[in-house]
Amino acid sequence: MNIYITLDYEIYFGKNHGTVEKCIIFPTSELIRIADNHGVRFSFFVDCGFIIKLAEYKIKYPHLEKDYDSITQQIKYLSDTGHDIQLHIHPHWEDSYYDGERWIINIKRYKLVDFNEAEISDIVFRYKKVLTEITGKAIFAYRAGGWCLQPFSKLKKAFKENQITLDSSVFRKGFYSSEHYSYDFRNAPNKDIYTFDVKPEKENLKGYFTELPISAIRNSPLFFWKLFLLGRKNTYLHKPLGDGKAMPAPGQRKTMLTQYTDCPVSIDGYNANLLQKALRSLKRKEFNHMVVIGHPKALSRYSIMKLEEFVEKNKGEHNFTTYSKMFRNK
Ligand SMILES: [Zn+2]
Repeated sequence: MNIYITLDYEIYFGKNHGTVEKCIIFPTSELIRIADNHGVRFSFFVDCGFIIKLAEYKIKYPHLEKDYDSITQQIKYLSDTGHDIQLHIHPHWEDSYYDGERWIINIKRYKLVDFNEAEISDIVFRYKKVLTEITGKAIFAYRAGGWCLQPFSKLKKAFKENQITLDSSVFRKGFYSSEHYSYDFRNAPNKDIYTFDVKPEKENLKGYFTELPISAIRNSPLFFWKLFLLGRKNTYLHKPLGDGKAMPAPGQRKTMLTQYTDCPVSIDGYNANLLQKALRSLKRKEFNHMVVIGHPKALSRYSIMKLEEFVEKNKGEHNFTTYSKMFRNK
């Protein structure tokens, strides 16, 4: 199995967005420690809209310089040491600003498809450029902010223009819809990799783009009861390292606690408990690729411990790898 441990590298986007140090820098340094201990490398999808805003506002507010420097230096370090840096777009940064004390985050245009095609081209171009400039390496893989990349027909042209050829946002059977936020992967193919043209959730053998979906797992309500209760109880081990709060997702918690839910395989918090089970189920399906999602901000001491266990147990038999190692110059 080729195993990709992937991290969406970002702060929180609600009213309580948290600090760069606790949401990003410290948890990522823990990932670096695991990677170095075991000789493996991870993939980071960087929220570059935030870097653009930091660059813009640090001129007026010099105390932002520290956040800007620590993020750009950590990304450069990750890239120089063989971790993969790829593109993650949260376009709500276009409508957000810093008021001198905190980020005022406006999510009325949360999805990239909420913008028009000219704006989309411009955003993809500028956001990708930031990462190319920091890393000096090719950026060709994409993870959509909040998994929102439909309808992809609106993004296709901009992606082609900017040589974004691989997407890794789909997780099979995933579905959610609210005012600002929606994705529908209910009909995605039961495959670990496929090509697509205009719909990332639909295989097209002649398609220009590759989809390397995030692996999916079906979780019982009992699992989420445990997850939510542990979050409250054993705070040292189970509370997230990030110091912000997630944006509300109306209705989601109730659904999870009352019915089976199809979820991405994840190392966030208690989800990391399911890594080995997920690997077994993918092996039974004879899949060759396992993509695991995570967010530095949502890691806990427990999930870091579980990730390290998982890497240690499987690094001999399986191939922990990155998008660049597998798909660059294909
Ligand atoms: Zn994100």
